[in-house]
Amino acid sequence: MHGRILIADDVAANRIIYKVKFGDAFYEPLLAADARTCLAMARTERPDLILLDLALPDMPGPQVLRELRADPATRAIPVVVLTSSRDAEERLTALSAGADEVMSKPVLDQVLLARVRNLLRARGEQGFVASAWGMPAHSVLGLSEAQAGFETLGTVALVSARPETALRWKTALKPVLRDTLAVMTPDQAMKVQPSEAGAVPDVFVIEADLDGSGGGLRLMSELASRPATRHAAACIVTPMQEGEATATAFDLGADDVVARGVGARELALRLRILIRRKRQADRLRATVEDGLKLAVIDPLTGIYNRRYAIPRMAGIAAQAAAEGSDFAVMVVDLDRFKSVNDRFGHAAGDRVLAEVARRLSENLRMSDLLARIGGEEFLVALPQTALEDAERVADRLCQVIAEHPVTLPSGRALRVTASIGVAMGQRAGDGPEDVAALIDRADRALLRSKSAGRNQVTFACRSAA
Ligand code: GH3
Ligand code: MG
Ligand code: MG
Repeated sequence: MHGRILIADDVAANRIIYKVKFGDAFYEPLLAADARTCLAMARTERPDLILLDLALPDMPGPQVLRELRADPATRAIPVVVLTSSRDAEERLTALSAGADEVMSKPVLDQVLLARVRNLLRARGEQGFVASAWGMPAHSVLGLSEAQAGFETLGTVALVSARPETALRWKTALKPVLRDTLAVMTPDQAMKVQPSEAGAVPDVFVIEADLDGSGGGLRLMSELASRPATRHAAACIVTPMQEGEATATAFDLGADDVVARGVGARELALRLRILIRRKRQADRLRATVEDGLKLAVIDPLTGIYNRRYAIPRMAGIAAQAAAEGSDFAVMVVDLDRFKSVNDRFGHAAGDRVLAEVARRLSENLRMSDLLARIGGEEFLVALPQTALEDAERVADRLCQVIAEHPVTLPSGRALRVTASIGVAMGQRAGDGPEDVAALIDRADRALLRSKSAGRNQVTFACRSAA
């Protein structure tokens, strides 16, 4: 693990102790003796996590937290607060001011290190997604955090071995948490279905020793492996004073761990933090998914673009070689399309392209590939398709374009046609077909369709390499 941990503590002995502890665990420690230095170093050094003593001499702890959270440059850095007091109000204040964790001293080393690993891992996952997307982690995370004010309420599932325990949690949380609270048995938790709108909880609160020791952690892992619940957060409730259980729960991926005796207000605050963080992760995932879609979809026609089509073709060729099956590749090019633009305008041309893409798509199987690879040129690949079937499909595609006129934005009906060139992937030989060479053969067959009068299909000869 390589992370830079900023240790802010005014007692020199404490700084040394934590420096050694984190150094031994292969982190790079950075040291600050007061709040001003801590804030300045957080901005300039961009540590991966801050370990903050709540009682620094030059500024109240909650104010340090608020300043860290207000600055986009430091907003997303996880902060673990250490306090020598066991005062419940103080813990609540720190959590509401933006601490990710508050631990009362003395803190067991293994629990502290497990919590640090856990927070760094969560940050690393988001940061990875962000940087894969070419954005600095803090900008993405900061951006989504800025929207936190508009948050909608979430759902919290309460899972315990005995229903009366979960009911007790519900009664205690009800006055202090506005989110929906659902009592569930472990069985019900495992049967959560994504189809029911709003039925997937944002957070599962799970008793650690469900059905004997470790049962809660097993349930947590089960939930993390299911598509319906894998993005939900998990908060594990451990028996009092169990350092080892707490450390294990963090290491197994719990998003938070609380002791059984935790106060309702602290639990409510922690659950709100988990819900907010999950919403943030959901938004980031949606942004990335939208971005990925934009990168491979042609906006005019809604079908795949060339960037997607070429590697996908290589996949189809590899699959065909592996299973010894035939496949077909077609290039479909609209006839005299330039004159559509010239006579009726570019918008009319666009309408024709979108309509042709729709007709092609309606006449292909789910497993077929359809992409727009040039201005008025489409690529179609048919996996597991023999020559006779390819002939039938190509004729049909030619026909569905020509048989009904396209309605232009002006209301005018215009008949368009397309020419098609087809090449068959060869199953014989060693290794997959060269995709570029195959498309080239289909292209040359297309040219023969054009010169033979257009609105027709031509197959490339197998021997023409
Ligand atoms: P041929 O029958 O030989 O294929 O003739 P053609 O006119 O279809 O072929 P050519 O390659 O000469 O012209 C293609 C035209 O496609 C030229 C260009 O203006 C038009 N085009 C390319 N992309 C778009 C687009 O996104 N929208 C519109 N409206 N037209 C486009
Ligand atoms: Mg053309
Ligand atoms: Mg063309």
